[in-house]
Amino acid sequence: MSDTPDRTASPAPCIDIHVHMVSTREDRGVVLKKGALGDPGMRLLADLRHSSLRWNAFLEKRFDAWYLESLVRKLRMSGRVDKAVLLGFDAAYATDGRRDEAATLAIMPNDLIFEAAEKYEELLPGPSVNPYRPDAIEELERCRERGAVLIKWVPNTQLMDPADERIAPFYEKMAALGLPLLTHTGYEHAMKAPRQEFGDPRRLRLALECGVTVIAAHAGASGVHDPVEYFPFFIEMLDEFPNLYGDLAALTWINRKKYLVDMARDLPQAMDRMVHGTDYPVPVWPLFFREFLGAPRALALTASRNYFDVEIEVKLAAGMPEAVLTRAASILAL
Ligand SMILES: [Zn+2]
Repeated sequence: MSDTPDRTASPAPCIDIHVHMVSTREDRGVVLKKGALGDPGMRLLADLRHSSLRWNAFLEKRFDAWYLESLVRKLRMSGRVDKAVLLGFDAAYATDGRRDEAATLAIMPNDLIFEAAEKYEELLPGPSVNPYRPDAIEELERCRERGAVLIKWVPNTQLMDPADERIAPFYEKMAALGLPLLTHTGYEHAMKAPRQEFGDPRRLRLALECGVTVIAAHAGASGVHDPVEYFPFFIEMLDEFPNLYGDLAALTWINRKKYLVDMARDLPQAMDRMVHGTDYPVPVWPLFFREFLGAPRALALTASRNYFDVEIEVKLAAGMPEAVLTRAASILAL
């Protein structure tokens, strides 16, 4: 590769690496347990699912199409984002390979992710594979064949311990396939999370040593009220592991805002390792950033329906460098 940029090449696309699939297709293996979700919007959906017949008819037959159409409409409305990685969610498994039905709070099956990405060119598949599944390696291979650009985990909820030596072969396979791991770091608040310590970025050393490109979702930032502050551990590890990145998903929330602002102001080298992600459909709150935007602009953005551009404008105002927006293109298995 030449060091001189090729001016004839089209600029790198802007990819949002952190967009959630939400489906109600129980006939396709979806699980969304009542009361399993902490986030109010998601909880409402799960609760509606268990309420009236009229809602059930909509949720059963039309919800998925409505959800994907409205997501893609917003992506097309955006003047900045080209594509989004749609994320799956695998079941919880015990370390002996048994699916843990009681601990499984949600499943968004990989096939639904692949089908959505086949239907809409704006979507890239980000399936989820629990490394304790008996067929974990085969599922990784299958996912890569079907075009997966990364693998998504929420260890706090899906109960995989990223530091467990037994999953080293899984990491080696990921590295061989060139599949990055996007894994939740910090405390998990959107869903119930029985093992919050699995979100500790220090547990990612094994994956990094196995050569996996790891993107620490939320950059180890969880919330200023959580008992352990994981963010400094993540920042320290950036120096040691060039294959470690972070995403800025949900960092516009009031409990994570501090990390975004601090990083933009004091940690430019860390910002050089950040990747763009929103955590859609998690809402954006421009009013939390009115000291950067000015109150009139914050109000105008609050009224806007252009979700993806509003989210970016808020982060840029807080000091996120533009380069974050296109970094994913050089990291994902495109
Ligand atoms: Zn998320």
